[in-house]
Amino acid sequence: MRCLDEHKRLTDLRVDKPYQALFGVIQGAQYEDLRKKAATDFGAMTSSDISYDGFGIGGALDKDSLGTIVKWVNEVLPQEKPKHLLGIGAPEDLFVGVENGIDTFDCVLASRIARTSAVYTMEGRFNLTNAIYKRDFNPIDDECDCYTCTHYTRAYLHHVFRGKEIVAATLATIHNERYIVRLVDQMRQALLDGNFTDMKADFLGRYKHKSGQSND
Ligand SMILES: [Zn+2]
Repeated sequence: MRCLDEHKRLTDLRVDKPYQALFGVIQGAQYEDLRKKAATDFGAMTSSDISYDGFGIGGALDKDSLGTIVKWVNEVLPQEKPKHLLGIGAPEDLFVGVENGIDTFDCVLASRIARTSAVYTMEGRFNLTNAIYKRDFNPIDDECDCYTCTHYTRAYLHHVFRGKEIVAATLATIHNERYIVRLVDQMRQALLDGNFTDMKADFLGRYKHKSGQSND
């Protein structure tokens, strides 16, 4: 209640600035009763004649329970307001979020794994430091239009990673971030075209998770 009141006060003071949305964050770990109570209470909460502009879903989301928890919460939250999933970024997990009602994501995963030489492709994830890429003169992903893929080969990236050059992490991060943005662009288009289920099956059929998993 107090944060809605304060948000209203600050919004009224900032009439010359763009509006900033206020999201309520739904917690409750793995507990259905706590998740649904949080979603019910936050979804209905009003004060100073305003309510939350959208909702974040956070905390204790592992791969196995992700879809279930997101579904519990989104069945209760107001349908017309945006839902943001906190800290989930693996390609296969983005599909689980979207099919259970998530609109937006933020996650460090794409840049964190890039710093360790792990990169995403449509065929799966791999590490550029592996010896097989030493003389591989293809881009990371020949379907990608990012700066890294249009200017550098796997062999060059292998070399700079092995040499511990900082540019290696930068170039791999540029690719992984672009990959995720392109993927969610494709998911959005599939939803608009009404073929999300087919698009998901096609993607997951090609995408093989080649290295370790991390959710954060
Ligand atoms: Zn790329």
